[in-house]
Amino acid sequence: MHTVILGAGISGLSAAYALQEISSRGYTLYEQAPTVGGLCRTQQMAGYKFDTVSHVLHFRSEETRDIVQRIVGEDLVRTERSAWIYFQRNYVPYPFQTHLNALPSAAKIDCLNGFLKAWIRRKIAGAREPQNFGEWVAEYFGEGIAHHFMRPYNRKLWGVEPEDLSLDWIRPFVPQIHLRHVVSNVLSRQNHPEVGYNPWFFYPASGGIQSVCEAFQSRLQEVHLDHEALEIDLDQKTILFRSGERVAYQRLISTMPLPSLVRRAKGIPEELQNEARSLRWTSLLSLTFCIRSPLPQPYHWVYFPEADFPFFRLVLPSNISPEMAPKGGAVIAAEISNPDASKANELEDQVLACLLRLGWIKNAQDVVHIVRNSFPYAYPVHDLKRGGRVRRLLQFLQTKHVWSIGRFGAWRYSSMDDAITEAFNIAPSIIASGS
Ligand SMILES: Cc1cc2nc3c(=O)[nH]c(=O)nc-3n(C[C@H](O)[C@H](O)[C@H](O)COP(=O)(O)OP(=O)(O)OC[C@H]3O[C@@H](n4cnc5c(N)ncnc54)[C@H](O)[C@@H]3O)c2cc1C
Repeated sequence: MHTVILGAGISGLSAAYALQEISSRGYTLYEQAPTVGGLCRTQQMAGYKFDTVSHVLHFRSEETRDIVQRIVGEDLVRTERSAWIYFQRNYVPYPFQTHLNALPSAAKIDCLNGFLKAWIRRKIAGAREPQNFGEWVAEYFGEGIAHHFMRPYNRKLWGVEPEDLSLDWIRPFVPQIHLRHVVSNVLSRQNHPEVGYNPWFFYPASGGIQSVCEAFQSRLQEVHLDHEALEIDLDQKTILFRSGERVAYQRLISTMPLPSLVRRAKGIPEELQNEARSLRWTSLLSLTFCIRSPLPQPYHWVYFPEADFPFFRLVLPSNISPEMAPKGGAVIAAEISNPDASKANELEDQVLACLLRLGWIKNAQDVVHIVRNSFPYAYPVHDLKRGGRVRRLLQFLQTKHVWSIGRFGAWRYSSMDDAITEAFNIAPSIIASGS
């Protein structure tokens, strides 16, 4: 009953660990890259350290936290989140919708007015059933918050209109609010840092986020790196690797992106191949600036909804963990959605100009390194047809004893925490499947 796992990101590693814990039957894990981690990798350069995509850990379930602590040990540091939104030259505490008091007055009036109008309308006429994210935002946050933050930010992140996004991703990623949050903030300046799914987070004391993946790897017996699966024959149940090696499986857990799995698989009906081709996603350019001067603020990350900043978020890894920069230095990571690859040099210049304008870098000479990391897959877009397409694809694959899991395997906006939880939940049913 041999299970093959493709991909040693956090999903594949967790699946391997879960299978190993509950069954003596074999599994083998193959990863195309020379190291484990997938999106959760950490780089080092001349005394600086940073995640190739900035990550922190947050746990919605105690069970998942216990699993990670058991594997990683005492090395995880718990920190209160310091997240902000840069808006009209002000730093507004996150989430935007519960900190209207921090807005300049015209925007504050728009947002409060819109929120109250929406609230009163719902009380009088009852809540309407929004059909998409754009309608949901207008219904629950009102037109002001929609106009000033929700629409521009989400358009920048996802690369589509809010009306083209479904509702099946917003919990827990978009914090819901109550009238009392808004009123207490505006009238008595009470902040609400507790709102949202990650008011505090964990981060490794040393080694960056990759150390979490390496801790999993150190507990596993069968991990083969530098193994790219080129072709998967669903009927013969074999995988052909780039090296020419062919292996047989009885059950397959794939964590590679769903469209890539479908492209490489033999035996998928044409209409399902078309469904996979219709899935949409964003790519990401992460530009990391290693600087020799300290940062002016202790923030962990800041969201940028406005169009004159090319990035949707800046993360300050050296504020998250002091080991990320040498004494007196700092690290800033700019995240750009759907970058035009032919304009990477211009983007780099624009980001640097923004960092100087914001005062986060005092002088261009303070920049020691700029590191570019590009990711072809960053956010699976939850468009209105995603749910049905993904369900049909995953159901078909399961009839062939293939479980496609993880952020890109199950094609779902999800976190490391979700990946670990999903892998541990699914492992017993894979073992029990008896195929
Ligand atoms: C900008 C951004 C910020 C994020 N921030 C956070 C955060 O702060 N906290 C958090 O919890 N989550 C965060 N996430 C989400 C998190 O990165 C993912 O949920 C998680 O890393 C997904 O892990 P995975 O194993 O499912 O996928 P991946 O990490 O993509 O792993 C898949 C693996 O499969 C391998 N692979 C692909 N094709 C093949 C093939 N043909 N053969 C063999 N191997 C193959 C890949 O090399 C890769 O190693 C963030 C994501 C993004 C994009």
